[in-house]
This record gives sequence, structure tokens and C-alpha cells, in this order.
Amino acid sequence: MILALAGGVGGAKLAHGLARNIDPSELVIAVNTGDDFLHLDYFICPDLDSVLYKLAGINDIERGWGIRDESWNFMESLKKVGGEDWFQLGDKDLATHIERSRLLSEGQTLSEVTRALCRKHNVVHTIVPMTDHRVGTIVDTQEGDFFFQDYFVRLRCEPAFTGVHYKGMEDATPSPQFSKALESADLKAIIFCPSNPFVSIDPILNVPGVTGALRTTETPVIAVSPIIGGQAIKGPAAKMMAELDLPVSPLGIAQHYGGLIDGLIIDNEDRMLVGPIMATGIDAYATNTLMRSAEDESLLAQETLSFVRGLSGNRP
Ligand code: GDP
Repeated sequence: MILALAGGVGGAKLAHGLARNIDPSELVIAVNTGDDFLHLDYFICPDLDSVLYKLAGINDIERGWGIRDESWNFMESLKKVGGEDWFQLGDKDLATHIERSRLLSEGQTLSEVTRALCRKHNVVHTIVPMTDHRVGTIVDTQEGDFFFQDYFVRLRCEPAFTGVHYKGMEDATPSPQFSKALESADLKAIIFCPSNPFVSIDPILNVPGVTGALRTTETPVIAVSPIIGGQAIKGPAAKMMAELDLPVSPLGIAQHYGGLIDGLIIDNEDRMLVGPIMATGIDAYATNTLMRSAEDESLLAQETLSFVRGLSGNRP
């Protein structure tokens, strides 16, 4: 059993590679739900949808989010009547949010709804929300605190980042399948996909009980660096690291996850950092981590699995 923690697009790419190499019964992908929000009365789960669309093979590669061959009639009509148009919703994508909201309003849990959507899209691997509770990531900045979408979409990540806190997290518990995977005697690895550490992976780690489980498990915990050559592939991860005074490199990722991970996979471009990372007590391995194709995703997944097999799993 392999447990992968994922955010949106970066996480979805490695999750897809893992899914191509691991039997559906042996992989659980636990996804960040801290960015979920209610919009136009529909419940939107940006990261769950990125992983779902990617594994279903219907994701838009050019745009990087949403469904490919999308049409925008709803958005255009909404704008015409003066509706809220700051968040883009394609016509096909909208169907996901409407059906999810309907099933949730019938009393199904987010795990159940996600399973139903996966089934409809013929996704055979297990994608689960980190929690079935409603939680929200709140971004702390020098200009005040903002809900994630506000910071990300409206403010374009401009205010200087100082940290995050969460709404509703105290009462949250890991979703049933996430919890079961964490406790599984067959768990062979926990993999932090190359997602934003602060707003994608940290919310998952902050679900009560998760960090404690990672600190005590005998299972190797490894991360794949989302930073390559001093830059994020997309999104604000590098800017956030700089604003937190962390080195904008895999070394900063090692520092951030320090104490939780046994190993870190970094890009060949950063291979000079293998030694310095090892000096912090974290095993490091350099390979190609830039995923431009399904082939790259699959190769990185294979490298990740063989790196895990090489780790003793003995915790310091
Ligand atoms: P978001 O919620 O859609 O922003 O998605 P994530 O949090 O999962 O992904 C954003 C992070 O993934 C960014 O920090 C990127 O640098 C990283 N990322 C995206 N694509 C790749 C890739 O191909 N390789 C690596 N190593 N990191 C990636």
C-alpha cells in the first residue's frame, strides 16, 4: 500500500504516474481540501477536481486546470447578467460542481461524493479528500488574512506571505480511507507529491492526527521537491519560500519538512544539493523531476518507488 498526499496540478501529475504503476487496490491519494469553497451556491473542490480530471485523462494540459475542450457559455451569460465572474467555471466543469453539491445536500460525505464522481469518470484508483469536515486554509500576509481563493485569484498572491492558519481544523478528522491507509500494516511509503508545501501539503499534515501518525510510523516518508533550480514550475511556492526567508531550493523544502521526511527527491539540476540535504539527516536522490508528459510522470513515479525501497524505514 502506498499513500500519496497531493494538492492540485503538481500533485496530480505524480499521482497519475503512481496510478500507472500501482494496482488500484494498493494506492490511496489523499488530496488537500483546504482550498474548497462555496461559490454561486456550489461547493468547489479545486484540488480534488485537478486530481480527478487528471486520472480520468480529461484535464486541460495547456491551461493547467479544468477540463479540456471546454466551452464557456455559462461564464459569458453570467457576465452578461452581472453575475460574479471572478472565478472561471467552464460548462463541463460546472456539471461536477452541481452534481457534487446535490449529493452533499442529500447528506453524502465528501468521500462518498468523490467516490461517486470517480466511478462516473471510470477512475479506478482511490482519490479521497484529506477530511470530510469543512475546513478552510487562511493565508496570513503582511496586508492581513485572506481566504485562499481571495489571496490566490483576486489578489494574485501579491501580498507578502507570512504563514497560514485554518478554519474548522480543530474538529476535523482524516477521511475514513485516509485514516485507514495511515494505519495500514501494509503501508510501504508515504509520498508528498510535488505540490505547494504551504497551501497544499501543510493543510493535509494539519488535519488532527496526521502529523502525529507520520512522526511515529515505521513507514518511510518521502517528498518530491516542487522547486527546481530555484523556481516553482507554477504558482507562488518560490515566492512564499523567499518571503519566509527559506532558501528557495530543495534545501528549503528539506528544512520545511524536516523531522517529518526520511527522504527527498530533487531534480538533476539541483544535484549539488544532495550532500547538503544528506547532512541534515534526510536521504536525497536526484533525478528528472520535471513532468512534461505522461511518460515523465510514470518514470518519476518508478524512481520514487525504487528510492523508497532503498530506504531502510528506520526512523531517527
Ligand atoms: P495547485 O494547487 O494547482 O497550485 O497545485 P499543487 O500545489 O499540487 O502544485 C503546485 C506546485 O507543484 C508548484 O510549487 C510547482 O512548482 C510544482 N510542480 C508543478 N509541476 C511540477 C513538475 O512537473 N515537477 C515538479 N518537481 N514540481 C512541479
